Amino acid sequence: MILVDGKKTSQDIKNEIAARVAEIKTEGGKTPHLAAILVGNDGASQTYVGAKVKACHEIGFESTLVRLEETVSEEELLKVVDDINQNPDIDGLIVQLPLPRHISVEKVTNKIKPEKDVDGFTPANVGRMTLNWPAYVAATPYGIVELLKRYEIETSGKHCVVIGRSHIVGSPMSILMARNGNPGNATVTLTHSRTQNLKEITKTADILIVAIGKPEFVTADMVKEGAVVIDVGIHRVEDSSKKSGFRLIGDVKFDEVSQKASAITPVPGGVGPMTIASLLYNTLQAAEKKIYQ
Ligand code: NAD
Repeated sequence: MILVDGKKTSQDIKNEIAARVAEIKTEGGKTPHLAAILVGNDGASQTYVGAKVKACHEIGFESTLVRLEETVSEEELLKVVDDINQNPDIDGLIVQLPLPRHISVEKVTNKIKPEKDVDGFTPANVGRMTLNWPAYVAATPYGIVELLKRYEIETSGKHCVVIGRSHIVGSPMSILMARNGNPGNATVTLTHSRTQNLKEITKTADILIVAIGKPEFVTADMVKEGAVVIDVGIHRVEDSSKKSGFRLIGDVKFDEVSQKASAITPVPGGVGPMTIASLLYNTLQAAEKKIYQ
């Protein structure tokens, strides 16, 4: 069984980006610059944004964090997005979700200039991805694609089952696996909360990608012998033996499924660390104008 190590792979990617940034600086080019907008004081959002800003510094990017009050109006937020859109020094922009309920995520997302949309959430980038054009692909699906590529996991002609159809993971993942490319060219079944006989379907998967958001939902009896299993889920469970008081588990019951899988991502240390690496990679591409010329 191959343990697909997202921690190591993400570090490799960060090293590659850092080397490219050093090169750009030596050539007298502009330092890539990521801006993040954080609205309110949500603890998890602060942690995620903090980790993104820290990663920027580690690899030599510039970063700007714009913090706005929970009570900021939609109009004011749209104005901040627009100012960043117009700022030639900033290459990439992310707006940390969730936003307060009085603000429309659709309006804000749609305001982000596609050329700076390094989260890959705008309709322009989702459309381009679907058309198999150069696009900023959302960080988590992109991280999974990169893991499959770097571990040389064959996807062509395989049956890939995706559990979950969220806009940020399951749906884009199904499109990426089906498109004509490598990784890709898989025969894809996208399953969701209304799917019947889920187990019968997952048992036929050569590649099973799980983004259901339910702790240890996928058990060994749902998995074919020799399948590749990608676990996107992240859940905190209490664990008094840990200094932090908790440990992380995924959507897959790792101990039993890893006995059957030919390759599997652990939690933590699988898909999670790839997400930030993908965001940094998208920002480098934005700085180098690789997607939109
Ligand atoms: P979500 O809650 O938006 O979507 C869950 C999906 O599961 C839905 O599409 C729903 O239809 C489907 N579903 C629910 N019950 C089902 C059932 N019984 N059978 C089949 N499908 C069912 O979740 P999400 O945002 O896609 O996240 C999924 C998990 O991945 C969460 O644990 C989340 O924390 C984690 N996540 C991790 C990363 C990362 O960087 N590793 C990024 C995003 C999300």
